[in-house]
Amino acid sequence: MMLTTTSTGYDEARLGFQRQDPHRPEVIFPVTSTTEIEEAVRYAIDHDLRIAVQASGHGLIKGIDGGVLIATGDFNGVTVDAGEKTAWIEAGATWQDVLAATAPYGLAPLSGSSPGVGAISYTLGGGLGLMARRFGYAADHVRRIEVVTTDGVRRNAEEDPELFWALRGGGGNFGVVTGVEVELFDVPTLYGGSLYFDLAADPTVPEVWREWTRSVPEEVTSAIAILPIPDIPQVPAPVRGKYIAQVQLAILGDGGEDLIKPLRAIGEPALDTVGEMPYVDSGQIFAEPERPDSYSSRNVLVSDLDALATLPELAGPGAERMHVIGIRHLGGALTREPEIPNAVGHRDAAYSLTVLTPGKAGGEQTILEPWRASTVGRFLNFSFATLTPDEIADAYDPGDHTRLTELRRRYDPRRRLWANHQL
Ligand SMILES: Cc1cc2nc3c(=O)[nH]c(=O)nc-3n(C[C@H](O)[C@H](O)[C@H](O)COP(=O)(O)OP(=O)(O)OC[C@H]3O[C@@H](n4cnc5c(N)ncnc54)[C@H](O)[C@@H]3O)c2cc1C
Repeated sequence: MMLTTTSTGYDEARLGFQRQDPHRPEVIFPVTSTTEIEEAVRYAIDHDLRIAVQASGHGLIKGIDGGVLIATGDFNGVTVDAGEKTAWIEAGATWQDVLAATAPYGLAPLSGSSPGVGAISYTLGGGLGLMARRFGYAADHVRRIEVVTTDGVRRNAEEDPELFWALRGGGGNFGVVTGVEVELFDVPTLYGGSLYFDLAADPTVPEVWREWTRSVPEEVTSAIAILPIPDIPQVPAPVRGKYIAQVQLAILGDGGEDLIKPLRAIGEPALDTVGEMPYVDSGQIFAEPERPDSYSSRNVLVSDLDALATLPELAGPGAERMHVIGIRHLGGALTREPEIPNAVGHRDAAYSLTVLTPGKAGGEQTILEPWRASTVGRFLNFSFATLTPDEIADAYDPGDHTRLTELRRRYDPRRRLWANHQL
C-alpha cells in the first residue's frame, strides 16, 4: 500500500511523537514486512527520491519535504528465543513491544528510559539503557542486522564486517534496517524508581548525587533530571509547580536499599517511587511523558561534573527560560569495547549531560558554555537539533568518523537516506 498527500490516513501515518518539524513526504509506505520495505526502497530508486524512515518518531529532528517515508510502526513483531536468550526485533517495534515479549521468560533487553521509543533506532545510535553500567551499550549486544541498502539489496550485515561495524553506533545512515537480533539478560526484576527532591528545600541534591556516583558498583545505573514541574493537575500534588531534582535509579541484584542510604540521608523526598519492580515496568523509573510533544536538545559527554553549580542560574529559576537538565552516570561496562568492535564513541566519558528545551531551541549553548573544559564528545541519541558536520563528528572517535563517512559514501553514494543525523 502507498499513501499520497490526498489519501485518508496520510497525516496519521506521517506524524510521530516529536511534533517540532514533522515529515511532509510525497508518498508514504506504511510497511508490515521486509518485502514491503524492499518495494518502498525500489520505488524511491525508480523515482529518484530520498528516503526517510519513521518508527515511533521520538528521534525526528527535521522532517523530510517530498520523497518517500517508510513508516515502520506496524512492522513491530518480536520473537524471543528463550534458550539462546535473544530476541529478533522487527523495524517498528518499540521497547514496550520488546519488554512485553521478553518478560514472560524473566529476560530483559537493554532498553532505555522510555518504553515508547523505537528499539531499532535507539540501538543503531548506540543505545544507553537502564542497565548500561552493568552491560554496556545496546549496540554492544547486537548479534545480527538485516538491512535493505539504497541499491535495493537486502543484506545480512553481520556477513559484512564494515557494514556491521558502522550500523552499530552510526545510526540510520547506511540502509533501512528491517530487523535486529539482540542479546537478552536474566533480569526479571530490579530495584529502582525515582527520588524527587524539592530543590528549594534541598539544594545540594545534584552535588550529593555526583559524590555518590563516584563510589557505586556497576550494578548501579543512575541519572538525575533537574527540572521545573508544571503546576497542572496531571502531575502528583507533592511535586506540582516545584523546581525538582529527580534522582533516577536502576539497581541490579541485592542490596539496593543499603546502596541508596546516602541519597535518602539528604532528607525527605517530595515523592518517592523507589522499590522492587518487574523489569517490564521499568518505564516508571524515569516516568517520562507519553503524549506527542515538541522539543529540542543539545548533549555533551563530559569527564566530570565540575560546572554543576552554574545550572540553577543558567537553566533554572534564575534563567529567562527554564530547561530540563538530564545527567546520566556512565562508566562501568560502557568503557569496555565489545567482543566485535562497533562505531560507538567516547567510551571514556564519565557522564552524559543533556539540555532539553520544550518547544523550539534557545539558550542551550549558553548553558553548555561552562562545560567546555570537561567536554569529551557528544551522544547523538540525546541531540534533538540540526547539528553541523563538525558537531556530528564530535560524537565519534576521530578515525571512526572518517571511516563512517567513507562507508556512508559506499553504501549510500547518492545520499538517498534522510537520517536524523547525517554522516
Ligand atoms: C522520551 C525519550 C527518551 C529517550 N531515552 C533514551 C535512552 O534512554 N537511551 C538512548 O540511547 N536514547 C534515548 N532516547 C533517544 C532515542 O533513542 C532516539 O531519539 C531514537 O532515534 C528514537 O527512535 P524512534 O524509532 O523512537 O524514532 P524515529 O523518529 O522513528 O526514528 C529516528 C531516526 O532513526 C532512523 N531510523 C528509524 N528506523 C530506522 C530503520 N528501520 N532503519 C534505518 N534507520 C532508521 C531514521 O533516521 C529516523 O529519522 C530517548 C528519546 C526520547 C524522546
